[in-house]
Amino acid sequence: MILNLCGHDFHYECENLCRVFYPNDPVRLAYDADSKDALTSRMTETDGGFLLSAAWDGAYEEVFVPADVPQLHDEQELAASLAIYRLLAKRTGYTPPWGMLTGVRPSKLMISLMREYGEDGAIRYFTDRLLVQPDKASLAAAVAMQEDRILRTSKPDSFSLYLSVPFCPSRCSYCSFVSHSVNSPSAKKLVDPYVALLLREIAQCGAIAHELGLRLETVYIGGGTPTTLSAEQLSAVCGSLARHFPLQTAREFTVEAGRPDTITAEKLRALKDAGVTRISINPQTLNDDVLEHIGRRHTAADAIETYRLAREMGFDNINMDLIAGLETDTPHSFRRTLDGIFELSPENITVHTLALKRSSRMVAVDNARAQDGAAVAEMLADTQRLCTDGGYVPYYMYRQSRSVGNFENVGWCRPGTEGLYNVFMMEEVHTVLACGAGAVTKLREPHGKWIERIFNFKYPYEYISRFDELTSRKARIKTFYTEYGI
Ligand code: SF4
Repeated sequence: MILNLCGHDFHYECENLCRVFYPNDPVRLAYDADSKDALTSRMTETDGGFLLSAAWDGAYEEVFVPADVPQLHDEQELAASLAIYRLLAKRTGYTPPWGMLTGVRPSKLMISLMREYGEDGAIRYFTDRLLVQPDKASLAAAVAMQEDRILRTSKPDSFSLYLSVPFCPSRCSYCSFVSHSVNSPSAKKLVDPYVALLLREIAQCGAIAHELGLRLETVYIGGGTPTTLSAEQLSAVCGSLARHFPLQTAREFTVEAGRPDTITAEKLRALKDAGVTRISINPQTLNDDVLEHIGRRHTAADAIETYRLAREMGFDNINMDLIAGLETDTPHSFRRTLDGIFELSPENITVHTLALKRSSRMVAVDNARAQDGAAVAEMLADTQRLCTDGGYVPYYMYRQSRSVGNFENVGWCRPGTEGLYNVFMMEEVHTVLACGAGAVTKLREPHGKWIERIFNFKYPYEYISRFDELTSRKARIKTFYTEYGI
């Protein structure tokens, strides 16, 4: 579809809103075009204010904004969105669960609204002004309260540490991450040199953090699938962490074990001995047909067996990731997955909505189209009801672009077992030092909101061949804290 903007440039919100209604159609932007086929969003100055209109195919909606309203620019943007929303909702007959809210962090907005208007006022803002459905507004408020409590524990000198291991045993059809399947010999031979350099980067970051006197809050090893590494390599990485960082101050040490087909007793022992406090075992579904369809090389039984093994070895904080909306999954089979997961009773359950990313095999090769949002709505409603009944609370939330039905991803936990890194990282409350290919260090101003990023090379081969270039960028960490203080 063509989105034609006239008299304003609120393209971000308007474009995203069009995608909510037409997830499978590319949106092409035009400015002041004379096109009959386009959806035209127009702002015109009129007596005492501004008229924001949307017109398409003979349909027309308009919203008036008085010129003297506080925060005029924001109100104009909201009005442009509202006109488009009304027009597209009538045209498609679809009522998006998150209304006009297109941002990726609803809980962040909810936290700031709660501070300004209180809980009820913030929920009302969501439902009345942004047209968010009441159950989603309440969910955002519940998450916001948990997040706010966790965020308040972060101090100006706090930081978290992230390590990236961008290797997997095979590639999932929905994956858009830079992660190499070690099935390919050329990727497999990168693993040893990669780990050797990762140890050097850990040492460099550890020395900088020590010199600056930063306080380590959480450690997260993600990827990819870190347990694609051997038990010896995992021990080497964790050993290096222990030598270069004060792990005793860390309140959480998570390793994304991820794929059940990479987890062995030996690797779990290595992680346990290294002081890992939380692991993730991510089946995504307990439906074998769906697992096969998405390119997984393990069964639901493998995931359950791995989970039990981790329990036997003493892991008492386990997260399990699920995805709602995978191709060939149905609300009925998703419900069976949920029942199976509740039987295992992990401390954390994270339920994502499938996002159809352009670089995934699912979209780029198989040309997959978004499923009906109604099926995902049912899956998520079941999740919310069963998690709540089962004593889980929602503690973090984010949304991704191109997610089916424009739904959310939510982390549920038994009280007191929240994945802290997830919250700190998502809300960007303190610095995250990041090592490895594709990792992004985010420096957060200790007494303000400024954030600066240092990017590592995206692909393992670049990380290896240009490592020295990359380590020189890390010098910015010291000058950043010199400029902004601690
Ligand atoms: S396990 Fe995760 S990172 Fe690896 S291919 Fe699958 S989705 Fe991508």
